[in-house]
Amino acid sequence: MYRITIKEGKDKAMRRHHPWVFSGAIAAAEPAFSEPDWAEVVSATGTFIAYGWYDEKSHIQLRLMSWNRKDRTGEEFIRKLVRESVTRRREFFTLPDTTAFRLIHGEADFLPGFAADTYGREIRMLISSRFADRFLPVVASELSSMLHPSLIEAVTDRQFAGIEGLKERVRCFINGEETAEECGDRENARFIENGIWYEAAPGRGQKSGFYCDQRDNRAITGSYARGRKVLDLFSYTGGFTLHALKNGAVSVDSVDSSESALRHLLYQIHLNEDKKTLPEGSREKVSITAADAFEFIRASEEGKYDMMILDPPKLAKTKSALENAMKAYKDLNRVAMMKIRNGGIIATYSCSGAMTREDFRMMLGWAASDAGCEIQILHTLSAGEDHPVRLSFPESEYLKGYIVRVLK
Ligand code: SAH
Repeated sequence: MYRITIKEGKDKAMRRHHPWVFSGAIAAAEPAFSEPDWAEVVSATGTFIAYGWYDEKSHIQLRLMSWNRKDRTGEEFIRKLVRESVTRRREFFTLPDTTAFRLIHGEADFLPGFAADTYGREIRMLISSRFADRFLPVVASELSSMLHPSLIEAVTDRQFAGIEGLKERVRCFINGEETAEECGDRENARFIENGIWYEAAPGRGQKSGFYCDQRDNRAITGSYARGRKVLDLFSYTGGFTLHALKNGAVSVDSVDSSESALRHLLYQIHLNEDKKTLPEGSREKVSITAADAFEFIRASEEGKYDMMILDPPKLAKTKSALENAMKAYKDLNRVAMMKIRNGGIIATYSCSGAMTREDFRMMLGWAASDAGCEIQILHTLSAGEDHPVRLSFPESEYLKGYIVRVLK
């Protein structure tokens, strides 16, 4: 175990339980770094602060995991964190009409770089730190012995592979043991969310195949769709589209740059018509367009829609990219406000961790002022409770949303 001394005056955030320590805060490591290992972290005067994982090859050299001196670091400690994370979600396992939800939410569950979602009988994981890459077999083994999934598939998060020096790969675990090969050809994972059926294709797709952080927001947003002409921008495989149909939308135009996502959207409408979870005739109400959403909305006819859903990808990947991203968010929301019918509803989201809720609200204010309209906030939205926001780690509040009414 390393003993790491923090520079004087640099330990404030970590004492408030922020889990990330960058090299600039480290005064000394004993012994000198050779291999990644656990670390005891102490202040300049030698008092205990926390235990963490020290890896100089990571872009976050020290990741703190426990502020309790009595904890014993090691594999059993990781297993305990996994058990606690899953147990906190026990109510989700008894939901009658939802079988997809998050089991481990990274730092917010004290497991840096690990995301694990369950989709019916399968578990999909996304790995975004060297720590997670290393301890994946331990976490997979614990998840297996608790939940007995048919398999666990773990994919390296492309966005972090480069900065963490990780090889992009897909790993497969069956009965808790890693198989020599990827999980191979198999059927899509089928699951239900608030009464709508979905399928996620294996080893491909975005995130772990589906965005279960929007579960509650799809239901609330959908409830506004009755009798409305809806535009679902950045629709992906139709999470919001399907809920709008379920709730009696007059029509839904779904737009995404990915053709394969749109094809999957149509497939999922058929799946739900077959299962009788969508009203008959739902397919005829939907039109799909593979296009750039920014261009699509700019070219769309004014007053055509009385509801719009704006769920763009993460436009601000880092704090330094925030300024440009704010312009893109503002542009999107401003044009939506200009085009929507008077009294129309916009459900607008940002999943950029670098953008605070205050930034997002300020951006909406600018957009409304430039569009010459007033907006009323009807709902303030965030990710579901399976994606908790850990207050000592503000970055975990990444998903923010508002349902607003536009008054002209
Ligand atoms: N609303 C979806 C998730 C959206 S994720 C759901 O509920 O499941 C963001 C989506 O934006 C992705 O599907 C991606 O393909 C798409 N996308 C990214 N850039 C785009 C662009 N410029 N125009 C249109 N779609 C875009």
